[in-house]
Amino acid sequence: MAIRDLTSERLFIGDDLAAGSRVDLPPPQAHYLTAVLRLKPGAKLLVFNGRDGEWLATLAETHKRGAALSIESLTRPQEWGPDIDYLFAPLKRSRLDYMVQKATEMGVARLRPVITDRTIAERVNSDRMRANVIEAAEQCGILRVPEVEAPTKLDDVLDDWEQSRRIVFCDEAHEGADPIATLEKLGAGPLAVLVGPEGGFSPRERERLIGKTFVTHLSLGPRIMRADTAAVAVLALVNATVGDWRRSN
Ligand code: SAH
Repeated sequence: MAIRDLTSERLFIGDDLAAGSRVDLPPPQAHYLTAVLRLKPGAKLLVFNGRDGEWLATLAETHKRGAALSIESLTRPQEWGPDIDYLFAPLKRSRLDYMVQKATEMGVARLRPVITDRTIAERVNSDRMRANVIEAAEQCGILRVPEVEAPTKLDDVLDDWEQSRRIVFCDEAHEGADPIATLEKLGAGPLAVLVGPEGGFSPRERERLIGKTFVTHLSLGPRIMRADTAAVAVLALVNATVGDWRRSN
C-alpha cells in the first residue's frame, strides 16, 4: 500500500484532473479553503475526483467569486475496491450519517437505500448521503467514491434483481452457524449486502428473500446488533473473506 499522506488537506472535486490543468472552484469550496482552512495562494493540497487518482495541487489564486487550483502532479494512481453494493434500510439522521461513512470506509462500490416494510425514515436525503460519502473519502484518502442511488422499495429491487450478483441477507432472526464459513462459500463475483431497519425485517420479507436462489442467508451471531453496528460487522467479515482485505501477495 502506498504510504498515505493523511496530514495534507484533501479535497474532492468533480473536474477531470491532469498535470497542468486549472480548476475553478465553486464558491462553497473556495470559501472552505480560504476562510475555513485559511489557505493562501501558493498553498499545496491534495485533490481527487474518484476517477483519475490523487493529485498534488496549488491554490493558484483567490478572488471574491471563488478560487482556482493549478493541478501539478499525480501522487497516487486511481484505486478501486470490491464490487459490493450495500443495500440498507435508511435510519434516522445521525445513525444514517454514521452508517454511510462506515460503508464508504469499508470500500463499497454503491450505496443503495431500500425501503422495507419497517423502515421509519421515509424521506431520504440523498445529497446528505453524498456529502457523508465525500467527507469519509476526504478524511481517509479513499479514492474510489461510492455512488449513492435513489431510495427504492425492497420489493422492486428484488423484482428487477440482476441475478449474477449474490445478495448476502443479514437476518437478525437466522440461527446460522458460522458467518465466515458461509461467506467463504461465496467465492469471487459481484456481491450485495443487505441490512434491515431498526425494526428488523418483516416475516413476509424474510420469506421472500430466503426463497431466492441468489440470496445467501447470514447470521451475525447470537446477539442482535443495531443496524449501523451490523453494517460494520458484516462489511468487515465480507472484506476479510471475499473482499479485498485478504491480499493475494
Ligand atoms: N432493534 C435493534 C436492532 C435491529 S436489527 C435496533 O434498534 O437497531 C437491524 C438489522 O441489523 C437487521 O435487520 C439485520 O439486517 C442486522 N442485524 C442485526 N443483528 C444481526 C444478527 N445477529 N445477525 C444478522 N443480522 C443482524
